[in-house]
Amino acid sequence: MTATRIDGKVFAAQVREQVARHVATLKDQHAITPGLAVVLVGEDPASQVYVRSKGKQTVEVGMKSVEHRLDADTSEAELLALIAHLNADDSIHGILVQLPLPGHLNEDLVINAIDPAKDVDGFHISNVGLLGTGQKSMVPCTPLGCLMLLRDHHGSLSGLSAVVIGRSNIVGKPMAQLLLGDSCTVTIAHSRTRDLRDVVRQADIVVAAVGRAQMVPGDWIKPGASVIDVGINRIEAPEKGAGKTRLVGDCDYDSCAQTAGAITPVPGGVGPMTIACLLANTVTACCRANGLDEPKGLTA
Ligand code: NDP
Repeated sequence: MTATRIDGKVFAAQVREQVARHVATLKDQHAITPGLAVVLVGEDPASQVYVRSKGKQTVEVGMKSVEHRLDADTSEAELLALIAHLNADDSIHGILVQLPLPGHLNEDLVINAIDPAKDVDGFHISNVGLLGTGQKSMVPCTPLGCLMLLRDHHGSLSGLSAVVIGRSNIVGKPMAQLLLGDSCTVTIAHSRTRDLRDVVRQADIVVAAVGRAQMVPGDWIKPGASVIDVGINRIEAPEKGAGKTRLVGDCDYDSCAQTAGAITPVPGGVGPMTIACLLANTVTACCRANGLDEPKGLTA
C-alpha cells in the first residue's frame, strides 16, 4: 500500500481563505476588525522566525496584527502589566505570548494572566479545564490542526482507535482530549510506555508528538492507519552537501507510507496548520467577544 499524502500546506491555505472571508464579513457587516497581539520576550532566533511569520499571515487575512518585542531581561511585573493592558484593549481579540520565555519568568503565571477569552493558544488553565470537560474553549493550535486534517480525511472519527505518542501540555494531552471528544478510543503513550510498537500497531490513528527523529518505523503501523506526524527534527543531510541539514518528523516517512493509509509529511504537514489555526482561533475569539456566530469548521 502507498499512503495518501495529507497536504497540510494546501489545507492550511484553505483555512486561511475561510478565515479571510469571515474577517471580510466582520468588517463589512459589523465594522469589526479582529486583532491579534503577539508578545516576544528575548531574542530566541526560532521564536523570532515564528513571530514574523504569524504577523505576516495575520495581516494577509485582513486582521490587525500587533507585535510587542521585549528585552530578554524584562521583569515579570512589566510583562504582566503589558498583558493586563492587552486584556483591557477592545481592539485585541487574541493574545499570544511566544514560548519559551527566558528562565526568570514564570510561564504558568504569565499564561494564566491572559484573559481566557483572548487565549488563542489555548494554554490558560481555564481553557485546559473546559477542553477536558468537553465544554466550549479555546483549543491549542497544533492539536486543532491535526484534528481538522483527520476529520477532513475520515469524515467521522467515531469508534476509531487512536494512539497519541507524547503527553505534553501543548500537543499530546490536548490532542488526546480532542480525539476523545470525537469519540475515538484513545491511548496516550510516553517515554515509560512498555511495548510501544505493539501499542501503536493497534491504532487506526497514530499522532506522533515526541521530538525524536524518525523513531516510528513503518512496521509499527497497522496497515491502512492514518499517521499524523507532529515532530519537527533537524538532522544532518550529507547528501545535500557537507554541513547541510534537513527537517524530518518523528515517523520514518518512507517506510510508514508503505503501510499507512494516509500520512502527513514533514515539512508540509502539521506545521502549516498551526499558524492557520491561530488565525482561526483569533476570528473565533472575536466572534465570541461580540456575540456573533462563529465560523463553521474552524473550531473543535
Ligand atoms: P515535549 O518534549 O514537551 O514532549 C515530548 C513527549 O514525548 C513527552 O511526553 C515524552 O514522554 C515523549 N517521549 C519522549 N521520548 C519518547 C519515547 N522514546 N517513546 C515514547 N514517548 C517519548 O515535546 P512537544 O510536545 O512540545 O513537541 C513534540 C514534537 O512536536 C517536537 O518535535 C516539536 O518540535 C514538535 N512540535 C511541532 C509543532 C508544529 O507546529 N508542527 C508544534 C509543537 C511541537 P515523557 O512525558 O514520559 O517524558
